[in-house]
Formats: sequence, structure tokens, C-alpha cells
Amino acid sequence: MDRSLHNLFRFFIFLGLIILPILSCISSTNSDSYKESRARMVKNDIENRGIHDHAVKEAMLKVPRHLFVGPENIEAAYSDSALPIKENQTISQPYVVALMTTVAELSSTDKVLEVGTGSGYQAAVLGEIVREVYSIEIIESLARESSELLNKLGYKNIHVKHGDGYQGWKEAAPFDAILITAAAPKIPEPLLNQLKMEGRLVMPLGKNHAPQELIALTKTENGLKKRVVEIVAFVPMTGEVRNSGFK
Ligand code: SAH
Repeated sequence: MDRSLHNLFRFFIFLGLIILPILSCISSTNSDSYKESRARMVKNDIENRGIHDHAVKEAMLKVPRHLFVGPENIEAAYSDSALPIKENQTISQPYVVALMTTVAELSSTDKVLEVGTGSGYQAAVLGEIVREVYSIEIIESLARESSELLNKLGYKNIHVKHGDGYQGWKEAAPFDAILITAAAPKIPEPLLNQLKMEGRLVMPLGKNHAPQELIALTKTENGLKKRVVEIVAFVPMTGEVRNSGFK
């Protein structure tokens, strides 16, 4: 090989040896900064409030919450608060996601229904823990976008459909657990019918734009066992649940 060509070749190899490690360092710092943010979030906002469920904590350490919020909220993605998403809806506060997931008492073989896909974040957390997640969203654009994001992230066990979750998802029922992530003034009867015996239903029960009770119900042979877990503030469940005299 011609000497100057040889030198040029060596120069580019030398440049590559310097630049590649710098580039990889920058990109790993970026992903690490979110990893650290997640670790901080799990420690400060979840563990410190008494949630120690291993599977829930592992899921929340893993799911990239910053991808479920709009670009304007990326830096706030791991903060201790709910955040606005499109269509005037919200992605729940991480603690509330952890709490709902914990009180649903999930195991890895479970099939779970979520009503209110929104950003898809809660569905992703569920998808890390259980075998199959079915999630229904009443706003078409949100259903489409969250479904695309979940596909892109490789969640093959999460199925999203556009529709009113009041009637549940008959073809996929019965479910081991059901999470409703929008506030309703009553418990949707069709969902109780799609819950397995000993299954759990977790939902914010109460009026619009007012503090609601986060309740956990267990379906037993002797009826429903109910407990109030926390006081919360969710966006309203819309659609059929608003019929029959409830406001
Ligand atoms: N779980 C979501 C939070 C969603 S906010 C997340 O992790 O981001 C509540 C969502 O419930 C909104 O997107 C709203 O459009 C949806 N919703 C309200 N009523 C509904 C209904 N009847 N059926 C299905 N989705 C509903």
C-alpha cells in the first residue's frame, strides 16, 4: 500500500479508537441517567411509602416512564406526580401506579384487564409482571398511540383496544384482576362478571374532580370484600358508566 494512504488509514483507525469510546460513554450516560432517576423514584416515592412488593419495584425500575410522556415532560417523568398527556388525560403518579399494582396482588401467571390505557405506562408495568394484559381506552388516538409504543418496546403480552371499558373484554374474560384507572361513581357490573372467583378489582370510586376512594374488591363465594386503600384524584371514567342517573 502507498505510504501516505497507509498513514491516512492509521489516522482513521486512531480517530475511531478515540471517538467510539467517547460516543458510547455519552449514550450510556444518557440511558444511565434515566436508570438512576428510576432507582431514585422507586426508593424515595415508592419504598419510602411502604411498598415493598419485589415484582412491582422491579417492573418500575425497568419501564422507561420518560417514553410514555410527551417531549415537554421528559425531564419531569420520574418526579413524584401525575403528568398531563394528550387529550386532557393524565399519566398517574408513580406511587399510585405502584399502589394499584400491589393491591391487585398479582402473580406471573395472571391475566389482567386494565380500563383506561391512557399513555400505556400502567399497562407496561403490568406487562412486566403478569402473563397477559388486556387494556381498553375510550379515546381512539390514545389507544392507537399507546398500542404503537408498547409494540415498539416489545410488549407482546399486552393487547390494547379502542372502546368503552364499561362492558369489559368478553372474549378475553375471565380475569384474575381488573384495574380501572379512571374514577367512576359506581362499580361497573359487567366487570364484576368478568372477574374470576377470588379475583381482585382495584378502582377509584367517587365523583368527578373530587377526592375519590381507591378501593380494592375481592370476589368471594360470600360476596364482595371491599377495602379502602387510599384517597386519590383520577380523571373521570366516561361512557356508559355515566348513564343510569350517576353524575
Ligand atoms: N393508566 C393510564 C392513566 C390513564 S388516565 C396511564 O398509565 O397512563 C385515564 C384514562 O382512562 C384516559 O386515557 C381516559 O380516556 C380513559 N377512560 C375514561 N373512561 C374510559 C372508559 N369508559 N373506557 C376506557 N377508557 C376510559
